Amino acid sequence: MAGFYVVGAALMLILILAVIMMMFELLSVLSIVFSAISLNKSKKYTALGGKYDFRSVRRFHTAALVFFIFGCIGALFFITGLLFSIANFIAYDDIETILWGSSSLIFGAAKYTVLIVLGVNSFRRFSQAKALWENICLNARINSRNCFSAKKVCPKCGSENNFGYNFCTRCGEKFVK
Ligand SMILES: [Zn+2]
Repeated sequence: MAGFYVVGAALMLILILAVIMMMFELLSVLSIVFSAISLNKSKKYTALGGKYDFRSVRRFHTAALVFFIFGCIGALFFITGLLFSIANFIAYDDIETILWGSSSLIFGAAKYTVLIVLGVNSFRRFSQAKALWENICLNARINSRNCFSAKKVCPKCGSENNFGYNFCTRCGEKFVK
């Protein structure tokens, strides 16, 4: 009867491990997807000179950041597994195990390389977009917390204008660049 429980516990453990591995697989895919979207949004924001909703850029960046952290944990698991395979190969000359696992190792290496390159690139692009946004907020002389959509306040009449206008749309005052 004791054997039954041992087998049951072992199966349970394998099941839990499988679920955790699947969760990290999913999270790493989400990291790639959200990094790609965040990268695209930051690029668009910079290309349009800030005439784009910054809140949306920031939201996707935050999501990408969260998934990237899990993606990095997944990458650490992967590297541990890789080292284990190499150690196994050196210790037992077990070429069959290496060959059997090589396709998943190559796939994993490619996936985590893409994940890290995309993640780092999206953060670099976001910091560029953020620098532009801060610059716009400074120019607009608006409290930075309210400066998501980059408006320019006319110093003469106080009306809000979209960023990029050289003259006030209400009173015609020329804006100092
Ligand atoms: Zn005005």
